[in-house]
Amino acid sequence: MRLPIYLDNHATTPIDPQVLQAMLPYFTEHFGNPSSQGHCYGWEASAAVEQARETIAQIINCTPEEIVFTSGATEANNLAIKGVAEAYQHKGRHILTVATEHSAVLDPCAYLASLGFAVTYLPVDGEGLVDLDLLAASIRPDTILVSVMLANNEIGVIQPIAEIAHICHSRGVLLHCDAAQAIAKIPIDLQTTPIALLSFSAHKVYGPKGIGGLYVRRKHPRVNLAPQLHGGAQERGWRSGTLPTPLIVGMAEAVRLSWQNHAVENQRLQKLRDQLWHKLSNLEGIYLNGHPTQRLAGNLNISIAGVDGNALHAGLRPVLAVSWGAACSAHSGKTSHVLRAIARSDELAKASLRFGIGRFNTTEEIELVGDHLCQLIPELRQ
Ligand SMILES: *Cc1c(COP(=O)(O)O)cnc(C)c1O
Repeated sequence: MRLPIYLDNHATTPIDPQVLQAMLPYFTEHFGNPSSQGHCYGWEASAAVEQARETIAQIINCTPEEIVFTSGATEANNLAIKGVAEAYQHKGRHILTVATEHSAVLDPCAYLASLGFAVTYLPVDGEGLVDLDLLAASIRPDTILVSVMLANNEIGVIQPIAEIAHICHSRGVLLHCDAAQAIAKIPIDLQTTPIALLSFSAHKVYGPKGIGGLYVRRKHPRVNLAPQLHGGAQERGWRSGTLPTPLIVGMAEAVRLSWQNHAVENQRLQKLRDQLWHKLSNLEGIYLNGHPTQRLAGNLNISIAGVDGNALHAGLRPVLAVSWGAACSAHSGKTSHVLRAIARSDELAKASLRFGIGRFNTTEEIELVGDHLCQLIPELRQ
């Protein structure tokens, strides 16, 4: 067993060997620029890119033309939010989002606020869920965009996105959804769910880092964007830059593999997650953060009363690689805005652990992690 045990699969995942194999020829033999339409090097690369687009489109039930490749979910979120704000500002300058969104949504919104847009941050309940009535009531005549994530990267909570999409659609407001933690793990059907824009990333589903995409609806309604990168006018002019063929091929293979096995894998992950939770909940003063059932299968987030956060993390480090605090941010040491939003005290927010169980974790690993924590926590409390 390799120590420390990696349980930080919401931060990133290792690439699946099968994904790597699919990518390799596109670094070497098939190196052409997909935009080179004058020779077979370009045609080969372009065919691979379009095949990848088709694969991903089928899984989320949209058309291939509706997918724009980006460098990841951060860029996709920026393109969606800033691109819509710029393109629709003549209609209104109000954006509605949620307090527990990823910083890649919150920070573009804060940037727009600095330009004079109005931004409303919806609160969540104690389990992390958005109140649908409050959301509906918060849509104003000048609202142009609502942005709600599908699955939360810290507490794993899955928002009722279909209901939210129908509310937004009936009010004529575009809905953007950050699905970085959800793609190919939980069903997304863009034919039946009127989401206008949807962001995703490869490296959360055992694909390569540095690639993701944005779904942009073309019908009912046809969504317009202001490009945020200008250049060679790739990707319908919305995202210039030479397409990274190996990364795109890798993302499609990662999404395909994950989706193909998602039902069985979700059951397995949930069993491991519950195994860990049952063991830990034998201890006193352990609190589950987030919704008990409406959450990602591999996610467990807990707060531990009566221990010092720093001592806890130091004691864990040799055995366990997990995140805490503002888990997905480059600045550590801050308490998590997500845990604050579900009304955890500062102390409980600091003594928290986010477990992201993934494809390569085993029962033995989870057993060992549980045993270690059950020994460490009473020690720290003494
Ligand atoms: C990881 C993550 C992002 C950022 O994705 P990148 O591809 O790393 O830019 C955005 N939103 C959520 C919910 C995430 O989990």
